[in-house]
Amino acid sequence: MSHETRLIDRPLRVEEAAVLRFLLTQDFPGHQQLLVQMSTARVTSECADGCGTIDLEVDRACAAAKEAGLVPIEASRHDSRGPLDVLLHVGEDGYLGTLEVLNLDSSPVRDYPKPEELTVFVRPTERD
Ligand SMILES: [Zn+2]
Repeated sequence: MSHETRLIDRPLRVEEAAVLRFLLTQDFPGHQQLLVQMSTARVTSECADGCGTIDLEVDRACAAAKEAGLVPIEASRHDSRGPLDVLLHVGEDGYLGTLEVLNLDSSPVRDYPKPEELTVFVRPTERD
């Protein structure tokens, strides 16, 4: 399945905000700055083919999370619905970028993940 996006301009949905807040309340370098950025986030594109991936734009007047790693913050859900992955990408500029939400078998995401279903993996930063 290809990943096609459509441009949009909308606020975060409640369930998207819940997952994002869950990831950003983990303890990793830069998470406080990213939480502040999140309060200004708009969704600028979303998937047109069934996964839950969204691109985010935040107010650049917020502080950048310079120490956040280039490696995404990852969480996953494993249950009878099959494995689902959540990956939060922070841009090199230190601002929130893309929140990927996808089933590993590439099927459409029918049940958006809830924070309590997720196991998070906080990766060590790749920056010094
Ligand atoms: Zn997609």
